Amino acid sequence: MSQDMQFLGDTMGSPPHGRPETNGGTDEEFRGLIRRQLELLGEDPDREGLKRTPQRVATALAWLTRGYEMDVAHVVNGALFDAEGATNMVMVRDIELYSLCEHHMLPFYGRAHVAYIPNGKIVGLSKLPRLVEVYARRLQVQERLTEQIASALDEVLQPMGVGVVIEAYHLCMMMRGVEKQNSKTITSAVRGLFRSDQRTREEFPTLAYSSRATG
Ligand SMILES: [Zn+2]
Repeated sequence: MSQDMQFLGDTMGSPPHGRPETNGGTDEEFRGLIRRQLELLGEDPDREGLKRTPQRVATALAWLTRGYEMDVAHVVNGALFDAEGATNMVMVRDIELYSLCEHHMLPFYGRAHVAYIPNGKIVGLSKLPRLVEVYARRLQVQERLTEQIASALDEVLQPMGVGVVIEAYHLCMMMRGVEKQNSKTITSAVRGLFRSDQRTREEFPTLAYSSRATG
């Protein structure tokens, strides 16, 4: 758990904007590295189709990891509301999720289900997918991603409990010929009543996994 808090602490403590620690690298240096990578793959980086690839890859990677430039406080800013007496579970299910595995820098993608039980405060529902984005758009492992989302919601709302489930497919497994190519990885993280209260513990997975009207 202390590790989770450390990850969270790093993020919450950083300024709202600005990618941390790029060691003074420049766009030009980045493009040069991708060009070199193409060469090492046996490609000709000067052929027509690849000429602009270093720039495209640099731009794409910056976008796919833009979570480093986002922070939770900034994302939920202005969307916290008083809700005295609201004590029932709030869940946003099937939040689309795209991330990059930090071991192979290949995508993993799927859905997140995020739930909490208010303790006097609620957050605008549209903020939950954005909260997922903050952590998904980085180099990740699914387990840590799940914990970070739960910890962030716990910290920002101080609710009675938090539950997060992520179901994802990892291209590093699917494309590299590892067995069970269509297997889905499921991770969960719970806080407060989602851990300690039996009724909540049972209700959460029922809501998260109950059959879907549309695949
Ligand atoms: Zn991987």
